[in-house]
Amino acid sequence: MNSEIFVLDTSAILSRKFNLTQENLVIPESVMEEIRLGKIARNLSWQEEDLRIFRPGASSVSKVREAASLTGDLEKLSATDIDVIAVALEVGGTVVTDDFAIENVSSRLGLKFLGADLKPISREIKWQFRCTGCGKRFSSHLKECPVCGHDVRRIVKRYSKRDMNK
Ligand SMILES: [Zn+2]
Repeated sequence: MNSEIFVLDTSAILSRKFNLTQENLVIPESVMEEIRLGKIARNLSWQEEDLRIFRPGASSVSKVREAASLTGDLEKLSATDIDVIAVALEVGGTVVTDDFAIENVSSRLGLKFLGADLKPISREIKWQFRCTGCGKRFSSHLKECPVCGHDVRRIVKRYSKRDMNK
């Protein structure tokens, strides 16, 4: 096993595919809080003192929020999701998640990411926004179309492959 660090989101932990006491696994503090609140906690067999629990700093959190608003994913991300990416930024780790928006923002920030099965995901989505009325397209998320006033919806603009094993 190499020294690659993996940052796990809640879905990755709940997949039970990881031995959480393994030294190269990092868990954001807010993910740990979600796990503690969930029913699954009592079925997981680790001591919290054996885990590497990490809380991201404010500056990396705001970097992630910035990137997420550029990709159009900000509304899709919970505070916990943002923490996962921010921790990965700080520790230089690979994000492990099955969440599409987390993957997308990680990619934007140049972070590596893997699905909870640790298989590479070769997709990058660029979002675009389109009016449901007149069909006009926008590059940022507007509440309503400035032309006709209908709702603006998010659509996939580009689907590109990317080699994750640089
Ligand atoms: Zn319109």
